[in-house]
Amino acid sequence: MANIFEAVKAAVTVPVAAERYGLKANHAGMVCCPFHDDHKPSLKLNEDYFYCFGCGAGGDVVELTRRLFDLRPYEAASKLAVDFGVDVPATAPPDGSLNRFRSDLLRCQQVLDEYLNLLIRWQRRYAPRSPDDALDDRYVEACQMLEPMDYMASVLAAGTLEQRIRTVELLLADGKMDQLEERLNRIKEQERMEEN
Ligand SMILES: [Zn+2]
Repeated sequence: MANIFEAVKAAVTVPVAAERYGLKANHAGMVCCPFHDDHKPSLKLNEDYFYCFGCGAGGDVVELTRRLFDLRPYEAASKLAVDFGVDVPATAPPDGSLNRFRSDLLRCQQVLDEYLNLLIRWQRRYAPRSPDDALDDRYVEACQMLEPMDYMASVLAAGTLEQRIRTVELLLADGKMDQLEERLNRIKEQERMEEN
């Protein structure tokens, strides 16, 4: 078995994956197309490929999964392998995207961790001392961000592969991680100067 793509394609047919992922086929093997606004079934599920007569979407089982869950091709193949218990060859992914995912994941975890520590510190240090105190921006940010950031960190640590992939993509979108990392560095620098 040469690679994960061949392994999942050999093990999982298009109709089986489609059914598992919520597409209901009629007797003719047609489903309402999830890729365009489709009111009567125009997407045909064949054993090893699908094709939509409405919008022209088509491809194999990996492509179907990739489009349904908005994944990269290697991630879609990995999802199929996990969801259907396919034994995959223990070789490095051909395009290096699993390695990239791992390093993206690690980076997100490190930055989130640092941000969480900062928020916890801010929440303690800048909490109002009396009801009349004006709220410090840092305290407000800590109150607003601690819970969602903590949730993301726990998904990255213990979520399913799919949840982790999603969360990493969400965090990396639009340079969000870069900006947060830059900001954390600025804050660290500032705090160091204030302490001296
Ligand atoms: Zn379509």
